[in-house]
Amino acid sequence: IQAGRTSLTQFVEVAHLVYEHALWVTDLLAFQERCRTLQPCHGRRQAPRTVAEIVLQNVGYTYPGNDTPALDGISLTLRAGETVAFVGLNGSGKSTCSRLIAGLYTPQKGSVLWDGVDAADLDTESLQQRVATVLQDPVRFPFSALANLTVSRGTLTEADPQRALAAARASGAAQVIAGLPGTWQALLSKRFRDGQELSAGQWAKIAVARGLYKDAPVLLLDEPTASMDPRAEHDVYQAVLRGKLRDDQITVLISHRLASVVDCDHIYVFDAGRITESGSHQDLMSLGGDYAQMFTLQAAGYQTEPATPVSDSRT
Ligand code: ADP
Repeated sequence: IQAGRTSLTQFVEVAHLVYEHALWVTDLLAFQERCRTLQPCHGRRQAPRTVAEIVLQNVGYTYPGNDTPALDGISLTLRAGETVAFVGLNGSGKSTCSRLIAGLYTPQKGSVLWDGVDAADLDTESLQQRVATVLQDPVRFPFSALANLTVSRGTLTEADPQRALAAARASGAAQVIAGLPGTWQALLSKRFRDGQELSAGQWAKIAVARGLYKDAPVLLLDEPTASMDPRAEHDVYQAVLRGKLRDDQITVLISHRLASVVDCDHIYVFDAGRITESGSHQDLMSLGGDYAQMFTLQAAGYQTEPATPVSDSRT
């Protein structure tokens, strides 16, 4: 418009961009509303840059307004370098437990100790920097593929392409990105005229790569692969197990599909807010309890599934 040099088409384009970003802000506000139920830790101490162990001691947590506790008497130890799995039916308390580890909720009973320091005494922001959380419904930024992946470190200007590539290879996102016109510079989101929309499974791979890229001592994957078929989920979780970018990382994989987590160092079985069984896959199979029964049932189910993914053919 300045000096009459901007054509009507350009003006319309800018107006369109402003409109699309306004929609995106609306999404973010809705996300913020969802976060209102959180009661994060709000101490003053800085969370440590590296953590040797996180210990949950007899932890209990009840959501405001609920009669029954979501978690009751949970005790476990997560050690640096270990990959553990939380498994169990929907509503058994897996996500709540991971949110307590991340300091997003403060337990009403017991404590969560980060190298002996109660997470309730740690500063929220520093805790958030130490934990990379990948959820089922990741935020889909209307940015380039590279920016979508590297945003987890909080800066878009200092992306580390080598690390981004390693993270993308580990999650399977590299293949998705290679197939996009413009590859790493491709704009993701159909809200842009030339933007590429991805399937839920493809977004999940980008989100897992985003979590791997963040240089955090704790990585929590809360079923980001739920939109994938069991085999695709298995591949992503196996790749995460092999492709860790930090040797000292504590990784927690959450899933109700047991085949995805058989190689984890330790598996915790949740049932109605309690841990009912724990150990390696072999330990739990030898135990012959709920885990062994569920594993056998699920394995039979997978064998009768068609070879071609049905839920999301583009994963
Ligand atoms: P899982 O991850 O195993 O599916 P969750 O930790 O999400 O289980 O849920 C455990 C229990 O807490 C369930 O009974 C669920 O209904 C309840 N719950 C989970 N999130 C909330 C919430 N934001 N507000 C109230 N109750 C919740």
